Amino acid sequence: MTEPPANGLRAVVSDFGGVLTTPLLAAFAAFQDDSGISPENLGLAMREGLAEGEELPLFRLERGEISEDEFVDGLEAALESILGHRPHLHHFRQKFFGALDPNEEMIALMRELKTSGLKMAMLTNNVREWEPLWRSMLPVDEIFEEIVDSAFVGARKPESRIYELTLERVGIPAEACLFVDDLEVNCEAAERAGMKAVHFRENAQAIPEIRAALGQPG
Ligand SMILES: [Mg+2]
Repeated sequence: MTEPPANGLRAVVSDFGGVLTTPLLAAFAAFQDDSGISPENLGLAMREGLAEGEELPLFRLERGEISEDEFVDGLEAALESILGHRPHLHHFRQKFFGALDPNEEMIALMRELKTSGLKMAMLTNNVREWEPLWRSMLPVDEIFEEIVDSAFVGARKPESRIYELTLERVGIPAEACLFVDDLEVNCEAAERAGMKAVHFRENAQAIPEIRAALGQPG
């Protein structure tokens, strides 16, 4: 065991998609290659039929309020009204995960931080039915003592409730927790919850920032 950080940080809370995996953009590109549906049309379909201020079906999926099948059915219907034909997207998850790889550098860092004595947690906006897929991608249980998955707790980032729940489970005060996520809005919410945050953009930027936050030499 190396020395614990001198600056009082005792826990790390990491996102999954786009931090511990290669960028999600690759997954959307693979979706486009496979389906012929552009990211623009996919974006339109995600919002199709929504009234002003009404939330995306994706958010309900991530909170586990609707199933993956219900979500995909809705998305196919929305795409039908945009494209004029109904695509078949029920193999979407295989395509999506097939285009993602583990981010080995970040995983190595997380493993090292665990060894250094930090409490490790993962906080992910995810899909209930996808759990076996992401769990088989990464040694999550080896690294993370606590895993908070939006689809099983009924709240999603950036809702304050999911940060409170995570902090409760971690059992360490917010100001002693470092949060890492590739979405700025999620980092801002973590800071509002009292945590320090590193906005992950790429390994070369995030890894030194994480080390600096923990008071480790670069
Ligand atoms: Mg992410």
